[in-house]
Amino acid sequence: MDDRMFRRAMGKFATGVTVVTTEFQGEVKGMTANAFMSVSLDPKLVVVSIGHKARMHDIVKQTGKFAVNILRRDQEELSRLFAGQLKEERPVSFEWVNGHPLLPEALANILCNVHSAHVAGDHTLYFGEVTDIIMKDEPGDPLLFFEGQYRSIGQ
Ligand code: FAD
Ligand code: NAD
Repeated sequence: MDDRMFRRAMGKFATGVTVVTTEFQGEVKGMTANAFMSVSLDPKLVVVSIGHKARMHDIVKQTGKFAVNILRRDQEELSRLFAGQLKEERPVSFEWVNGHPLLPEALANILCNVHSAHVAGDHTLYFGEVTDIIMKDEPGDPLLFFEGQYRSIGQ
């Protein structure tokens, strides 16, 4: 089976979009990821799948912690930025909570310590034990990703 067919089929599964953030040697690192899932309630676990070619892969291995920032519908540009799809760099303001750099406008910020890691093909599944959750009171719609395109609810 060719890669295109696989990606086209996986693209039929609509997801939200997150930016995974962490701090390493005084620098903030972020990466756009839609391979995110809630895993367990007791203990509270989530998982993100990070490709071996991504710089984020080795960074999370070393920091042992990450935060998942769930993007709102007007944060497509941040998604593109942290996917390396913008031509120019952009300064981003982070809010610091318990040693985690967070995107303050996200729908929710999920702070984790790495619980375990499982290599699966060309990705590693990083399971995160959730230590804190931040959610703002104001409502908001999520940014969606479907068939390789950004979407929003009702579109
Ligand atoms: P880098 O190339 O090091 O960084 C990515 C970009 O983020 C750079 O352009 C950099 O300018 C910017 N950046 C990083 N930190 C900062 C900062 N502090 N301030 C400002 N800018 C900063 N890949 C996966 O492995 N798993 C997934 O689940 C996944 N889902 C994706 C979903 C979508 C919708 C898209 C578009 C891409 C997805 N990717 C996923 C691909 C992944 O986002 C890119 O391959 C990414 O560029 C690889 O990350 P890296 O760590 O090598 O990033
Ligand atoms: P796309 O059409 O490549 O993505 C459609 C779907 O295919 C994604 O939602 C994901 O489920 C799957 N997919 C894509 N690349 C994958 C990979 N390398 N490993 C495992 N699953 C993958 O979307 P696009 O707009 O062309 O994506 C932009 C870039 O971001 C591409 O380079 C793509 O590879 C990457 N991406 C990676 C992942 C991932 O690693 N899990 C997920 C989404 C996008």
